[in-house]
Amino acid sequence: MHGRARLLPRVVTVFSGRRSTSSVRILVANDDGIYSPGLRALARTAREFGEVRVVAPDVEQSSMGHAITHSRPLRIRRTPIDDFDAYRVNGTPADCVALGVDGWGGADLVLSGINLGYNLGNSIWHSGTLAAAKQASLLGCRGIALSASTGGDEPDFARLEPFVTQVLSVLIPEQALQLVNVNFPQAPTGLQWTRQSVRHYDGRVVPDEDPMGRKLYWISIRPLEEVEEGTDRWAVRNNLVALTPLRLDLTDHDALTQVSARLAVPDAERSR
Ligand code: MN
Repeated sequence: MHGRARLLPRVVTVFSGRRSTSSVRILVANDDGIYSPGLRALARTAREFGEVRVVAPDVEQSSMGHAITHSRPLRIRRTPIDDFDAYRVNGTPADCVALGVDGWGGADLVLSGINLGYNLGNSIWHSGTLAAAKQASLLGCRGIALSASTGGDEPDFARLEPFVTQVLSVLIPEQALQLVNVNFPQAPTGLQWTRQSVRHYDGRVVPDEDPMGRKLYWISIRPLEEVEEGTDRWAVRNNLVALTPLRLDLTDHDALTQVSARLAVPDAERSR
């Protein structure tokens, strides 16, 4: 099992002093909407780590990616969710983080989720859950996206709760991790550092018919035949919570080095 750095339960003890970090301001957002049970579960756990404010979309915004609203004004309204300081926004997940961080005068950490359904591999591109964490990163704030397997049913958040606590206790002290994607299998047995699975694209067009016999199409998920060891997909398939550090820089640095060496612009041309 090369490359495997499985985190054992003892890491929890690393975090025994977590209650002393109550000055940490944690903004909780999601893409499933303000009334999602996943949001409530995350906010409850986040409270153990600092001061929590919830800012989330008023309706579901799944698969909206990193869309932002610029052609109309946005509204933010206080919303009773248990006893949380919570607000709903008529916008996208990225809008919620923008308004939330601005309205709070900054935040130390943005947690997004817990999404009802995985965000593995290439779904990072479509995911509104990831977009909220990415927006945090764009604003100079740390972002962590959390998603859970649904497997047909709603995730069992009570069962996941100790693992959510463990994940936050591992990630929060790691200041160098600016953006992390976390996925919880249905019944986790441990944590695993992973890389993004990119071998398969899991968006597929599935044809259907309406009652009048006219063509319809669904963008759906194709079950993947094989998974590469060390990836997020591989981890959750092995009942491990997948922790994937991400970055916003999409530059292909190898390609840039090669192409700029091969196609260097001569000085004379450049100065013309
Ligand atoms: Mn969602």
